[in-house]
Amino acid sequence: MGLRAVVVGIPGVGKTTVVDKVVSGFEGARLANFGTLMLETGIASKVVKHRDEMRKLPVDKQRRLQKAAASKIAKMKEKLVVVDTHLFIRTPEGFWPGLPFDVVRAMKPTHLVLVEATPDEIASRRAADTTRYRDAVTKESLAEELALARSFLAAASTLTGAPMMIVTNTQGKQDEVAAGLVRMLEGAAE
Ligand code: AMP
Ligand code: MG
Repeated sequence: MGLRAVVVGIPGVGKTTVVDKVVSGFEGARLANFGTLMLETGIASKVVKHRDEMRKLPVDKQRRLQKAAASKIAKMKEKLVVVDTHLFIRTPEGFWPGLPFDVVRAMKPTHLVLVEATPDEIASRRAADTTRYRDAVTKESLAEELALARSFLAAASTLTGAPMMIVTNTQGKQDEVAAGLVRMLEGAAE
């Protein structure tokens, strides 16, 4: 069984940038972008057109897309699978877990990594990303979401038995953060 690193973090921490760098820095690694896998099913079944529409769907519909993505990831057999996903989703029905019991267990993570940044950095990254329809939120609510992420991370770690790690993605340090994760994973692969 290979390594399976599940990388999480609230929108705007720079998670996708770090994940993509980890995948290119580790020989034989495969990227699994959870949102993209959900979107493929959502588009095929004509439920949504854009990735930022998914979190507005009734939770019951999101749940079906979520389960479909988890089962695709469960079948991946590469030496390292790096999953880019979320601990929770801000839906109209409330915060909804991105890694509920069945989903996180199906993915069999060996490592859980939470990417963090300061509320200021998150707010400016969200504002700068014109490719996405990010939710507008205050710095206070970003601080709350960062705290909430740590609680959900601990829950995922307890459910799976995988160690959890928190990394700080300071502006301009993406390469260093990714290189540190690659070294950690190479050590785990020995
Ligand atoms: P992202 O590009 O990482 O922001 O993900 C796009 C969208 O995919 C999110 O806004 C969610 O709607 C959905 N998504 C990603 N990961 C999960 C997950 N683990 N559970 C449920 N929805 C998810
Ligand atoms: Mg992303």
